[in-house]
Amino acid sequence: MTRVYNFSAGPAALPEAVLRQAAEEMLDWHGAGCGVMEMSHRGKEFTSIVEQAEADLSELLGIPDNYRMLFLQGGATQQFAQIPMNLLAGGSADYLVTGTWSKKAYGEAKHLAGALGGAVRLAGSTETAGFTRLLRPDELDLDPRARYLHLCTNETIHGVELRDANLLPDAGVPLVADMSSHILSRPIDVSCYGLIYAGAQKNIGPSGLVVVIVREDLLGHAAPMTPTMMDYRVMAENGSMLNTPPTYAIYIAGLVFRWLKAQGGLAAVEANNVAKSNLLYDFLDASDFYENRVAHDSRSRMNIPFLLRDAALNDAFLAGATAAGLTQLKGHKSVGGMRASIYNAMPLAGVQALVDYMRDFSARNG
Ligand code: PMP
Repeated sequence: MTRVYNFSAGPAALPEAVLRQAAEEMLDWHGAGCGVMEMSHRGKEFTSIVEQAEADLSELLGIPDNYRMLFLQGGATQQFAQIPMNLLAGGSADYLVTGTWSKKAYGEAKHLAGALGGAVRLAGSTETAGFTRLLRPDELDLDPRARYLHLCTNETIHGVELRDANLLPDAGVPLVADMSSHILSRPIDVSCYGLIYAGAQKNIGPSGLVVVIVREDLLGHAAPMTPTMMDYRVMAENGSMLNTPPTYAIYIAGLVFRWLKAQGGLAAVEANNVAKSNLLYDFLDASDFYENRVAHDSRSRMNIPFLLRDAALNDAFLAGATAAGLTQLKGHKSVGGMRASIYNAMPLAGVQALVDYMRDFSARNG
């Protein structure tokens, strides 16, 4: 068996130790005589799996007691609809647009606002700057009466990340953050947010699962037309199990949480992510063959887009990379070029192998 260094933006590489453990437990989980996929979601075995996953996630992120964790389905995209259904409550919501994903969230909220009897405002956008930097405070037009302010703290396609909590916009309204592509990459202060959500397929586990962390006072305000399955309060009251949850995805997420704890928790994980991203950015900045166009203070540690200055070499670059066991480096079609997604499961050795390949390719083609 040969495992490649997989730089996919998602579904992304999972820690090898997690995959090995899942393989070992596939046919018989802890003497249950069956695998996790085959268990009742209401039985004592799966109940212990979900309770452990919640406890570990809570410990990793330091989730305060007045927040609830939900394991839902439909990916992060379903949250684009579920958030206004639950939080708009006939009022107005502000949206910041800093890349493709926050633009999609804004579009879906606008699509639903009328039916929900509310309104949605664009409170700031970097679209004319090509989504290559964070918003500046003077570009914000915040409504202090908004029901919530939505933002995406790591734009997966454009490689723009907001890390500094001091830079979070403050209008005194609940912040709702899409953290799909950088959750669990470093410690955060959950209490800065009203709601955090993240699709699982980057730093958590299998796609389809979405984790929602919501402050309790935001539950119970769903619009009357909200389907029961989409009502956060109902899901919270039923331990995310109004219906059959994505049991296997939750189990894998639980293994990932335990793996993160074994790494030393999120402070240790962050140190590793700093080392990995610095290695690649330092190389890019020293090169006149490659370039990254994101403003230095806005650069993501998880998703690093880069261009070859001579785009005619793109296909040769990608073919050579694949042959060297470095896969999924093609950039998103909306930005072109390349993108290295280096989530928690990507080891430093993988980034080193990429930098070595890039150096060698530029020497041969420069
Ligand atoms: N938000 C962000 C920041 C993402 O990166 C993605 C997926 N790449 C999504 C939302 C959509 O996630 P899903 O496909 O799980 O709906």
